[in-house]
Amino acid sequence: MTLHAPYDADNIFARILRGEIPAVKVWEDDHVLVFMDVFPQSEGHVLVIAKTSTARNLLEIEPEVLNRVVAATQRTARALEKALKPEGFQIMQLNGEAGGQTVFHLHFHIIPRWSDRSMKGHGHAPMAEPAVLKALAERIAAELEPAG
Ligand code: 5GP
Repeated sequence: MTLHAPYDADNIFARILRGEIPAVKVWEDDHVLVFMDVFPQSEGHVLVIAKTSTARNLLEIEPEVLNRVVAATQRTARALEKALKPEGFQIMQLNGEAGGQTVFHLHFHIIPRWSDRSMKGHGHAPMAEPAVLKALAERIAAELEPAG
C-alpha cells in the first residue's frame, strides 16, 4: 500500500465517525474528534482526528484542517497533563504502511510517558477495558480549557 492510495471510506476511524462502531470519546466539536486508543501504548493514550477531511496522511491534509487538528492535540495534551500528571508525552503521527501507519485516516497520537513506566510497542498493546478508558476520558475532559 502506497502513500497515495485512495481513501477507504470503511476504515475504522471513518466507521467511528459515522457511529458504526463505538469509541470512548474525550471531546469533539464540528471539526475534530478526540477519543481513547483502544490498544493504549500507555495509560491515557489518545487519538485526534479530523471529522471533515478524507486525508489519509500528512501529505494530503488540507492546511486549515491540519491547524485545527494540531490545536485540538495541544488542547487535549494540556488537559491530559493536568489530569494524569505524566512526566512527558509523545506526539506520534505515522504515514504509510512502511511508516507504521495501520489506520489510513490522518491522526495524531498523544502518548503520556512516565520515567518509571515502559511504553508498549505500537501494535503490540492489549485491548483496554471500555470502563477503564471511560474513566480516563472523563478525567481528561474535566480539565479541558474553554475552546479558543
Ligand atoms: P496508526 O498505526 O495508524 O498510527 O494508529 C492507529 C491506532 O488506532 C493504533 O494505535 C490502534 O491501537 C488504534 N485503533 C485500532 N483500532 C481501533 C479501534 O477500533 N478503536 C480505537 N479507539 N482505536 C483503534
